Amino acid sequence: MDKALTQKIIDRLASAQHPVLLAHIRPDGDAFGSVLGLAHILKERGQNPTCYIEGGMIPMYRFLPGADLVQDLPSQLPEKSDCLIALDTSTRERLGQKTLSWPQPIDIVIDHHISNPGYGKLNLIVPEIPATGGVLFEIFQQAAWKITPAAATCLYTGLTTDTGSFRYRGTDAHTLHAAATLVELGADPSEIAKQCYLSITHERHALRRLVSDTISIKDNKKSAFLTILPDFYKKSGAKSEDTEGIIEDVFSIQGVEVGSLFEFMPDGGLRVSLRSKGKVDVNSIASSFGGGGHKAAAGIRFAKDAEKNRDLVLTAITQALSKP
Ligand code: AMP
Ligand code: MN
Ligand code: MN
Repeated sequence: MDKALTQKIIDRLASAQHPVLLAHIRPDGDAFGSVLGLAHILKERGQNPTCYIEGGMIPMYRFLPGADLVQDLPSQLPEKSDCLIALDTSTRERLGQKTLSWPQPIDIVIDHHISNPGYGKLNLIVPEIPATGGVLFEIFQQAAWKITPAAATCLYTGLTTDTGSFRYRGTDAHTLHAAATLVELGADPSEIAKQCYLSITHERHALRRLVSDTISIKDNKKSAFLTILPDFYKKSGAKSEDTEGIIEDVFSIQGVEVGSLFEFMPDGGLRVSLRSKGKVDVNSIASSFGGGGHKAAAGIRFAKDAEKNRDLVLTAITQALSKP
């Protein structure tokens, strides 16, 4: 990690009285964990952070210490806001529609998405670290800021959820050392695992069953895709946030190199999730359609022509798999 740049970010963070912490739409464990992890540290230092994420906190991550700090996006920021920090968010747009009309620029971007163009004044983007929670951990170590048990729990949650429980590529000795240190500092691995992986609601489980039934296997069994139709939500009682993790079902099949999930939106749009076991760079597929992410996990959002765009993405996957 770039020490000089990290120091500039530490200095800028330290000088803010009313920092505003932001993360991406459709937030996941790393988005909530990063925002709350940084909020705890800044509060401990006597600063007054505010946390905004589109839609506010979701039930699954309510176990995180300080969960009540997360608020839905306001149309305008409080005037006293003196430093905007975007965490875990690969593009400016993914901070949410409402943020686009805010006049204040983004001061600091801290992220690990390889596709992040760096839309802040200071940008620390570290694709080698598999979660933004891990990037924050390095920043706090360099700053010698005390990581409280609450902050450790939040950062650990980002690490475990973004690495699929320390299973994905990108999990290395460094990741495990960071996780071990966070456990020493007070994160409880089995309790966090219970909350993240063993507490699926009945509605989420019902949605999973509907989605599992749509499986289609292609490309000589090297790829598989799932579909979510708009009426699945009504049928299951689940919410859009309940799709997190569903893609693992196809991706876990032996020999399947690329897994994809196509969600047909009620407005005619299409949301795509892509996962790769390593042979195919799904970030480059997603980027060619205006999306992004990482080599092993990426996403795309199309505003219209859902079926046509699904077919184009499936063709791109077939082509990528046929390369020697
Ligand atoms: P998901 O499949 O939604 O879990 O997303 C996989 C990864 O790709 C995450 O790290 C996302 O932040 C990123 N990602 C998802 N959708 C987009 C998008 N439309 N544009 C850029 N990055 C995305
Ligand atoms: Mn995320
Ligand atoms: Mn992340």
